[in-house]
Amino acid sequence: MSEEEPIFEDALFHQKRKHGKWRVVEAPVVEGPVADTHAHLQMMRDPSLSLARAAAVGVRFVETIVDPTDDGFRTFDELPTWLMGASRVLRNITSAGSAAGGAGTGTAAGAAGESAPGAATEAPAREPWLPLPAVRIAAGVHPHNAKEWTPEPAAALRERLHDRRVSAVGEIGLDYHYDLSPREVQREVFRAQIRLAKEAGLPVCLHMREAHDDGFAILAEEGFPEAGTLLHCFNLDVAEVARWVEAGCFIAFGGPVTFKKADEVREAARLVPVDRLLTETDAPYMTPEPLRGALCGPEHVVWTADKLCEVRGADTPEARAALLAQLYANATVLLDRAPTPWQRTGASV
Ligand SMILES: [Zn+2]
Ligand SMILES: [Zn+2]
Repeated sequence: MSEEEPIFEDALFHQKRKHGKWRVVEAPVVEGPVADTHAHLQMMRDPSLSLARAAAVGVRFVETIVDPTDDGFRTFDELPTWLMGASRVLRNITSAGSAAGGAGTGTAAGAAGESAPGAATEAPAREPWLPLPAVRIAAGVHPHNAKEWTPEPAAALRERLHDRRVSAVGEIGLDYHYDLSPREVQREVFRAQIRLAKEAGLPVCLHMREAHDDGFAILAEEGFPEAGTLLHCFNLDVAEVARWVEAGCFIAFGGPVTFKKADEVREAARLVPVDRLLTETDAPYMTPEPLRGALCGPEHVVWTADKLCEVRGADTPEARAALLAQLYANATVLLDRAPTPWQRTGASV
C-alpha cells in the first residue's frame, strides 16, 4: 500500500500529497474516550507506536484480531511488550505533539478528567497524564483461511479462548468477493466457530462480504450467540442493515462511513439504534477520509467517531460528548468483558 510511507514518530495525522510529500492535518477533537473495536495490531509496522499514537488522540480501547492460521499466536506473547513500549513512546510523542501545537491536546483534557489514582503520585508531569488503550483480543479463522481449518489450528484456537484477554471469536464469516477458500468450506468453518463461541460464552465478530444472505441464514439456524454478534466494517445500505439490527446485532462502522460516495452507508449508520453502534478501523486497511492513501492505525478511529457524530446530528459539544460516551460504552460492555465462566474454569494457556 505505501512502502514509501515514512514512520512518523509523533501524535499527528499525516495526509499523503503528491510527489511523496506529506502534510499534517489537524485531528478532530473528541469530547471523550473512543474505542477501536477492530484493528490488526500485529500488522502494524510498529505496534507500540500505533498504541501510543492512539492513546495520544483519545483512543482508550482496542480490540485486536488474531487469526491462528495466518498470524499464529504472536499477539498473545508480544502484547505486554507492545504496551510497555507504547508507554515509553507516548511520553516522547506527546511532548513533541504539544510543542507542535498539534493533535491530542483537545482529547488530553477529556482524558485527564478520568485520571486514575496514581497519576497524582507521579513527579510533576509536563504532560497531561494519558492512559494507554486497554487491549483485548478477538481470535478466529478468517473466511479467507477457512481451508486451513484442520484439527490442529481448531484445537489451538479452542485452547486460546481460555486466555482471559480474549473477548470475542473473530473475525469469522464468509467472503464471496475473493473466494480464497471454497464457499462450502467457508460455511462449514463459520458454523464450527459460531458453535465454539457459544460454548465459550463469547461474542462473535463477523466479516461478511458479498455473502450476507448465507451468513445471516447460518446464524439464524445456529442461533445468534447470547454474548452478542458484531457485524464489522459495515459498508452497505439501510435495507441490509435492518435485518441485522432486528436480530440484535451490534454494527461497527469504520473508514467507509467517511468515504465521499458512501451516502448509503451514512444512512445506515443513522438507522442503527444508538446502543448498538460501534466505531472501528480495520487497521491497517480502510483508512478514513481525509487520510486515504496513508496506512491506517487504531488512532484513525477518531475520524470515524467524528463522522458518526455528524451523521447522527450531534452538533454541540454536549451532544457529541453524550454520543461518544454511548459509543464507548457499547464497545466496552460488549468487548471489555469479564472472564466468562468457561475462561474461569478452563485450562490456562
Ligand atoms: Zn474483515
Ligand atoms: Zn479485519
